[in-house]
Amino acid sequence: MADIVLDKVSKSFPDGTVAVRDVDLEIADGEFVILVGPSGCGKSTTLNMIAGLEDISSGELRIDGERVNDRAPRDRDIAMVFQSYALYPNMTVRENMAFPLRLAKLDRATIEQKVAEAAKVLELTPLLDRKPANLSGGQRQRVAMGRAIVRSPKAFLMDEPLSNLDAKLRVQMRTVVSRLQKQLGTTTVYVTHDQTEAMTLGDRVVIMRGGAVQQIGPPQELYDHPANLFVAGFIGSPSMNFLHAAVEEERLRTAVGDVPLGDRLRRELAAEDAPRELILGIRPEHFEDAGLVDEQTRGRGTEFEAPVEIVESMGSDKYVYLTVSGERASAAELEELAADVGADGFGGGAANLVTRLSAESTVAEGENRRLWFNLEKIHLFDPSNGRNLT
Ligand code: ATP
Repeated sequence: MADIVLDKVSKSFPDGTVAVRDVDLEIADGEFVILVGPSGCGKSTTLNMIAGLEDISSGELRIDGERVNDRAPRDRDIAMVFQSYALYPNMTVRENMAFPLRLAKLDRATIEQKVAEAAKVLELTPLLDRKPANLSGGQRQRVAMGRAIVRSPKAFLMDEPLSNLDAKLRVQMRTVVSRLQKQLGTTTVYVTHDQTEAMTLGDRVVIMRGGAVQQIGPPQELYDHPANLFVAGFIGSPSMNFLHAAVEEERLRTAVGDVPLGDRLRRELAAEDAPRELILGIRPEHFEDAGLVDEQTRGRGTEFEAPVEIVESMGSDKYVYLTVSGERASAAELEELAADVGADGFGGGAANLVTRLSAESTVAEGENRRLWFNLEKIHLFDPSNGRNLT
């Protein structure tokens, strides 16, 4: 097992593309870290540099305290699992899993024992004599993982290992990966563009954009305290709502009513060069049908009225899409932001507010409804740099 440290690691390709810039990351021994972000943000390049499949242009990579920038991939004692399983079609499951051990010239009995152990952990024992062609996608991916774990490497690197599987299988395999990692306690770096995988699998998540790290932290921390607009929009489904907020002395004017400013923000925003306009962020689940909020809770939030466009009943709750007018972020701006974070729902269209209300709400399409939202849960962003000011 090993700790992995990236110290100002960058990668530029010969054509001038800077794929990764100044990434600082310390991965503890046994930790499960997820690299997530939109397509092209540099996740795979970062992983490939750790594996040794890509040269590091500048900065230092240390495994167990030793600089390994120039060490060949096979000498790093790391196992990689890709989205394509890359199994040998003419070998059985047993032979596929034994292959790396035969290369390492282990004796027959040890190989048999290690394959049997890995097969047990991955529930592949009954399939050991099958060929890959006679396995399901999920089983093939388990064999690929088996081939990685038989070697008991220092670390696993996984690049979108589940993305070729259908949605249901992906959910099942998520639990397999999670259980496996806990059981083995092997340091793991896992690349995905799927925020559900990022939120559910890792101890910590690294959010990347344009080759740079945006924020690193446990999933819940990123969700509760996103450092900037990008992270706020990227984490959470449906996405956080973003609305324009004009700064007045003690409050913000927004399309969902006035929002009072706390003392600290009021002082900050009183400065000469402070922004006159902010972006207000509210997650869908922090709204509620005003009629359902008890007296005690009511005081923590504020109310507004808006026309209801669409009601989607999910059984456990209701997704309600509303139109708020006035000083909301313009459709063009929101679309740009949405494209940026790879989200599809900042409400650039008619209904521009997505809310998640209790199932008991009797809200109906076409009516004007009073809604409440929790002021303790809102986020305020500086539009010039995206920084979260709350
Ligand atoms: P995806 O989720 O689409 O796989 P990613 O986040 O893994 O994306 P990378 O594959 O790391 O992104 O690529 C990061 C950037 O580097 C992209 O802009 C990509 O086009 C660029 N890139 C990758 N390989 C090369 C190369 N060999 N030469 C030039 N540019 C490259």
